[in-house]
Amino acid sequence: MTNHDHDRALELIMRRGTEDIAAADSAWLDSHLESCSECAEYAADFEQTGRLLQTVAVTASGALVSATQMKVRERALYLQEQQARVVLIAISFCLGAMSSAISAWLWWKFGAWVAERLGLSQAIVQPGIMVFLVLPAVVIAVLMLAFPHPVAEGPWRAALAREREGRNQ
Ligand SMILES: [Zn+2]
Repeated sequence: MTNHDHDRALELIMRRGTEDIAAADSAWLDSHLESCSECAEYAADFEQTGRLLQTVAVTASGALVSATQMKVRERALYLQEQQARVVLIAISFCLGAMSSAISAWLWWKFGAWVAERLGLSQAIVQPGIMVFLVLPAVVIAVLMLAFPHPVAEGPWRAALAREREGRNQ
């Protein structure tokens, strides 16, 4: 008996479970299974698994199906929210950085004027103002990234999913 025979047997076992195979192939498979315990064992396992799957499919009740659909829908909503949130954070950060840059420029000018008036070294005053002004934008961005989870969790989202489902029907 060659490896090719075993391979052919395994392929026929799988195909016999799902489609009609030629009578000659079926006869050949039966004779191989009689003489090869290894493939016979595999065939038994395969058929048992097939029966098991059919049983599970039959017992999947309407409630289980709709509960699973609900979970999938909730997950989709969650992913949508996460995406929207990332965009929101990016926009907020850009706006914050822009306003920081503009006010930094103004304060920079103001700092230079003050330094000139008070006779302070500009090498100290201007970098100090810069750090002070950019800091809020950095803190806000860090805070938003540190709490990325939407406030609306669990029950609220489930209710939303149910509502959308109702609308789609
Ligand atoms: Zn075999």
